[in-house]
Amino acid sequence: CGVYGVYSHTEDVSGMTYLGLYALQHRGQESAGIAITDGAWMDVTRGMGLVNEVFRHQVPHMENQCIAIGHVRYSTTGSSLLANTQPLMVNYAGGKIALAHNGNLTNAAEIRHDLEQQGTIFQTSIDSEVFVNLIARSRQETIEDKVIESLKKIKGAYCLTIMTESKLIGARDPQGFRPLCIGKTEEGSYIISSETCGLDVVGAEFIRDVLPGEMVVIDEDGIKSYPFATEEPKASCIFEYIYFARPDSVIDGQSVHDARFMMGRMLARESGCQGDIVISVPDSGTTAATGVAFESGIPFVEGLIKNRYIGRTFIQPTQKKRDTAVKLKLNAIRSVVEGKRVIMVDDSIVRGTTSGKIVKMLRNAGAKEVHMLISSPPIGYPCYYGIDTSVRKELIAATKSVEEIREYIGADTLHFLSIEGLKQSVSAVDPEAMCYACFNSAYPIEDGEKPAGDSKY
Ligand code: 5GP
Ligand code: SF4
Ligand code: MG
Repeated sequence: CGVYGVYSHTEDVSGMTYLGLYALQHRGQESAGIAITDGAWMDVTRGMGLVNEVFRHQVPHMENQCIAIGHVRYSTTGSSLLANTQPLMVNYAGGKIALAHNGNLTNAAEIRHDLEQQGTIFQTSIDSEVFVNLIARSRQETIEDKVIESLKKIKGAYCLTIMTESKLIGARDPQGFRPLCIGKTEEGSYIISSETCGLDVVGAEFIRDVLPGEMVVIDEDGIKSYPFATEEPKASCIFEYIYFARPDSVIDGQSVHDARFMMGRMLARESGCQGDIVISVPDSGTTAATGVAFESGIPFVEGLIKNRYIGRTFIQPTQKKRDTAVKLKLNAIRSVVEGKRVIMVDDSIVRGTTSGKIVKMLRNAGAKEVHMLISSPPIGYPCYYGIDTSVRKELIAATKSVEEIREYIGADTLHFLSIEGLKQSVSAVDPEAMCYACFNSAYPIEDGEKPAGDSKY
């Protein structure tokens, strides 16, 4: 998912949130929502679909609106339903609160069960709802303390934007799984965004990342930092750099583009690839493919064309929808690949569906050989922290060896980047302070706290 927030007394906070969500659209395409306040009233508009579909007719607006938060959803917990869209908004004894969440919680089922035993009513099936209930029930005096008390009870991955009538709050979990950053416009408005591309789109300047285990509060006095759990080992998601984030974003000081390009270079070195042309599976494989071409000296050309009017196929929640989507999405250029030894680069193999179909597509278009290079290691284990690779039996690398995967997708050769190569690709961050669990099962949050992948949570 993607989260966003704006605090401003002079600029159009809901309009900026709309633009921010538009820039974060790659982080989730199932639903979108914007909550706004003018300091007294609070209102939320949510709907299924893309940002420009949900807000086709109107971007929400209030006369003296001063804070807005927004969310784009990619469902990992709870079904893809209108009731599960965000931001969530509640009225409680202390006022109103709206909340948008990116990530997956690992003890939400437990907390929810406890709260339900005490009579709390839940309105959605998403894990994020425990935040608002914990905050509403907290006996702490200030909203800052209420939020911190709640965060301390919760485990797992979360980046949050929270809004009260007078404050914009951002928080990042102690491991720092998902990205979150702060920006400021020339007019002095503050922005909180999942990625820096959400700052660029409204012309805001990047100030800094929200730190793992930090909460930031923005109100009329400016911005204040509340570190609440900074001692825990860090585990930022390496997959943000491999696939999820946009290449023009910078996360924790590491350019996503540069990481991806380097992954391509490392992949070329490790595989010693041989061929006539390097092509990518657009768009997610393109940056790594340029790195492969750069390192190997083999020319990068466009061999596959993507229909730019379709979104990310993986993000379609059912397998059937994903299947048709591949054909709609990609087509080979015969004159480019015919008679060639093609090196095809993609960022990851999850189920193997896409890859198999594309190999066939290239062969049908006359490719002599198809060598597949993947700029990440095999995904053998589910993610419990907010990337939808949670059902282990669907992961092809969970049950097949590299050779079996090669055979399944029908490529002449297949190479995956090693974890070592991956680590060397993120030189601006500490490679040891990252999560690689879907590749090596070294889950940063202890065993027993992982939810059963495809259950309610
Ligand atoms: P597969 O070959 O496993 O069917 O699909 C792999 C493709 O799915 C890659 O091109 C990758 O870019 C894309 N993809 C889309 N969404 C995701 C996601 O959330 N996680 C992963 N790992 N890959 C995804
Ligand atoms: Fe990211 Fe994989 Fe860790 Fe999930 S398990 S947080 S996708 S590195
Ligand atoms: Mg892709």
